Amino acid sequence: MLNLQQPKFVYMGGKLRRWEEATLHVGCEAVNRGLNVFEGLKGYWQPDGPFAVVMLQRHYERLQKSARLLHIPCLSSFEEYKNSIEQLASSLLEPDRDMWFRTTLFVTEGHWGEGTVADLVVTAFHQDKVIPSPIDLGVSTWQRSLDVALPARIKTSTNYQVARLARIEGRKRGWQEMILLNQWGRVAEATGACILMVRDGAIATPPATEGALESITLEILEVLAESLGIPFVRRPIDRTELLVADEIALCGTLAEVVLAKSIEGLPLPEETPVLRALQTRYFEAVRGMKPHPFVHMSTVGSTCGMAWPQTDVAYARKT
Ligand code: PMP
Repeated sequence: MLNLQQPKFVYMGGKLRRWEEATLHVGCEAVNRGLNVFEGLKGYWQPDGPFAVVMLQRHYERLQKSARLLHIPCLSSFEEYKNSIEQLASSLLEPDRDMWFRTTLFVTEGHWGEGTVADLVVTAFHQDKVIPSPIDLGVSTWQRSLDVALPARIKTSTNYQVARLARIEGRKRGWQEMILLNQWGRVAEATGACILMVRDGAIATPPATEGALESITLEILEVLAESLGIPFVRRPIDRTELLVADEIALCGTLAEVVLAKSIEGLPLPEETPVLRALQTRYFEAVRGMKPHPFVHMSTVGSTCGMAWPQTDVAYARKT
């Protein structure tokens, strides 16, 4: 049986509300057309106490780009955006668990693009501090939609309809995640993560123009790979290249860096020296054990009785 978290609070309409009260009306476009754009962000406890969110500014910028592409006004400034996450973190954080935030602009007013009004809603879910175990991957018969139909570049819930179908297909075959191919039959990405492949010691990943989200985790991994001296290229990838790859991993804010142990039922080599090294470096950076200047961490909470530390933006509580 599913056991989904229902945290006590949600940020909605400019303030914290109880989970049960955070509802949308059936008449709004967010509900009847699935009209929204969103970001998933991850926060980690740092070794010396504070809790910090990975690449907050980049997520805010991508939210704005998604909103712009769907003609949804994004009225929140970066400070308000950060503040909404801080408020929710302060009400939900637990000392021993990390947290995943979903910040969504739901279209609450308007019709067919006229009079569009959106509300910033933030939900947050506790995450165990674990390094993900290797998974079995499949290639879906479902396809990533075209840039002229539903661009993968837009992070909107409707893009996840196909992802959902692919996951249902994968579950029937015993695979935990699925790869979506693009209109040319080449590799696009997974249902909620991007894909990395190693051949002859070099990492390859498809560029966004192959039908992948412009991933923030990939930006980080590209820089970390460079710092480790590992070649990293963005180039088109054939489906059959995956089947003969030396190593495969998925990456994303929520997926983090998860290694694959098989693809389409074919076992991958057990030794994963390149992607294991990259995975280790990623966790060192986001958990603050070995920070990297590119991996920006924004402090939004602290262990000291959940008191608020000095942050780069003044904290003003709105409730
Ligand atoms: N592709 C899809 C479809 C995703 O949902 C995600 C997760 N946001 C990613 C890729 C990875 O993006 P990011 O690294 O920015 O989380």
